[in-house]
Amino acid sequence: MSHILILGGTTEASALAVALAERGERAILSYAGRTDRPRSQPVPVRIGGFGGVAGLAAWLRDEGVTHLVDATHPFAATMSGHAVEAAERAGVRHIMLTRPPWVAGEGDRWIHVPDVTGAVAALEGPPRNVMLALGRMHVEAFAAQPQHHYLLRFVDAPALAPGLPRHSLVIDRGPFTVEGDMRLMREHAIGCVVSKNAGGSGAEAKLIAARGLGLPVVMIDRPPCPAARVTHAVAGVLEWLGHSALRGV
Ligand code: NAP
Repeated sequence: MSHILILGGTTEASALAVALAERGERAILSYAGRTDRPRSQPVPVRIGGFGGVAGLAAWLRDEGVTHLVDATHPFAATMSGHAVEAAERAGVRHIMLTRPPWVAGEGDRWIHVPDVTGAVAALEGPPRNVMLALGRMHVEAFAAQPQHHYLLRFVDAPALAPGLPRHSLVIDRGPFTVEGDMRLMREHAIGCVVSKNAGGSGAEAKLIAARGLGLPVVMIDRPPCPAARVTHAVAGVLEWLGHSALRGV
């Protein structure tokens, strides 16, 4: 029987866990441990890093994993690189389940930057109210542009106050709506939004809200993705599992 490891931390990973549990597949979901209260899951969960490529390859072998589904966030580039290499070392089949990136449409005012450093540089200029829709990682980098007032939205209350001189903090794990995000942006008189190009529908509300309010968005493009088999849908993973069970590939 197949034994599937899902690298998670995303809604896609949770949706896949539900689909696999419904089919009675043997699967385990792995979290990095960044969130205090991960959602409850219908498959067993393990939490914490594996210890690099070597640690993950050993874990795959020890647990008898046959299929590795990398459903991490598109910006979790280190984990995705490790997954490809460890799967190859351990002789485990590998696929990435990821969301297509967002594409600017009519009315969007996006400023594309390659990474967080680029986003910080793009904020050069007079003080504004900036919504940093990035999660809690990388927030400190924006201390290099201390003239702005930052609106932060985190899933959990942080143990330490964010290291930004002027900020407001909202604790909310969503799901977010366009109306709710427009209200939030108006309440805080937001002049600019900083976002990662995560893709997917769950976090898109802020972009539609920014478009509606005519606000510029500093859009951090995705890090390079390793060469791998990729699908954008849970059904694509199920099909791949079915094929590999039939053909042994
Ligand atoms: P990362 O930089 O690619 O990974 C750093 C290290 O964290 C990895 O080398 C690995 O440690 C561990 N790790 C990452 N994902 C893991 C997982 N699913 N299970 C076990 N260990 C994991 O990743 P990140 O950007 O810090 O993201 C961490 C987690 O948050 C991921 O699960 C991701 O899906 C989720 N997430 C990330 C973002 C984002 O914007 N980056 C947004 C939403 C959710 P070892 O080397 O010790 O194995």
